[in-house]
Amino acid sequence: MPANRQILLVSRPEGWVTEANFKLSAAAIPKPGDGQFLVRNHWLSLDPYMRGRMDAKKSYARYVELGEVMTGGTVGEVVESRHPRFARGDLVTGAFGWQEYAVSDGAGVRKVERSKAPPSYALGVLGMPGVTAWMGLLDIAQPQPGETVAVSAASGAVGSVVGQLAKLKGCRAVGIAGGKAKCDYVVGELGFDACVDYKAGRLRDDLQTAAPKGIDVHFENVGGEVLDAVLPLMNPASRITICGLVSQYNATEPYGVRNLRSVLVNRIRMQGFIVSDRMELWPRALEELGRWVGEGRIKYRETVAQGLENAPRAFIGMLRGENLGKQLVKLV
Ligand code: NDP
Repeated sequence: MPANRQILLVSRPEGWVTEANFKLSAAAIPKPGDGQFLVRNHWLSLDPYMRGRMDAKKSYARYVELGEVMTGGTVGEVVESRHPRFARGDLVTGAFGWQEYAVSDGAGVRKVERSKAPPSYALGVLGMPGVTAWMGLLDIAQPQPGETVAVSAASGAVGSVVGQLAKLKGCRAVGIAGGKAKCDYVVGELGFDACVDYKAGRLRDDLQTAAPKGIDVHFENVGGEVLDAVLPLMNPASRITICGLVSQYNATEPYGVRNLRSVLVNRIRMQGFIVSDRMELWPRALEELGRWVGEGRIKYRETVAQGLENAPRAFIGMLRGENLGKQLVKLV
């Protein structure tokens, strides 16, 4: 009997997540009822937000209970359907979890067109991370031509798109990333104007060199010391989009920002956002991103782990910065 292999959350991390927090398990493949369909997952997305779902803390979304399948977005194929709008063979993307099969009633599910781009892109540049970059930069920060835009985690799923969107809007794009190889990729392949390696130990000075006219928009994916190095370089009336704080997700002590004074004296507008807040913007964002990817104006890379059993290790690796571009798990 074929089984539905799943990764369950079995304990909550104290500080850094470990592989022991997860367990590979097998359940019967579920049967779709009336108005439902069965999906065979092909690709699993690994995202930093999942670390937050492992803690039993109040947040913008429900946390995963112990013994539950880990939450996550996938792309898969409909293999059985009793739903009027989804047919066998359709490719779909939805929050189907860290498992090989899932049943759905179609809520929150999007069809994926095979012809437009590789299906896995629906979990990256043509999905949640891409829309996050689009929304946080173009809708919230609204960069103007000639402005300098900085972005942290610049080689990752979100950051790589942010810098390329900034270039499309006529801005100077400055990335912040960990290590020379990532910075070379960000400048050489993605076309940013500069990239600063925060691991080199001269972040503030290197940022000043990379952004000689100061920073007008900062897109924050990391927080902590990176944000503290950026704050004094922000220009008057500049904007900071707080998208994520990945440097803090495994921290046991909260980080106290030192350079908040810059927000006051420079009248900085700092705004956090969650990409699911404004679902009405998704169609336009996906249409524009799809066009720019199709025209080769946005470039994109994936790091792929093989097999569901390797998802926990790949997830931890992504949080440690071992990924280049979007971290995925190939399930079939
Ligand atoms: P990435 O593909 O960028 O992967 C995470 C990256 O974070 C790593 O590759 C690593 O890059 C970097 N990183 C990890 N630890 C540190 C650290 N201590 N200091 C500096 N950098 C670190 O992930 P995503 O693009 O998927 O997500 C980026 C951010 O966007 C996250 O904070 C995430 O939570 C947030 N996000 C927010 C959304 C929202 O709705 N607000 C939606 C989606 C994502 P490096 O090697 O360069 O250090």
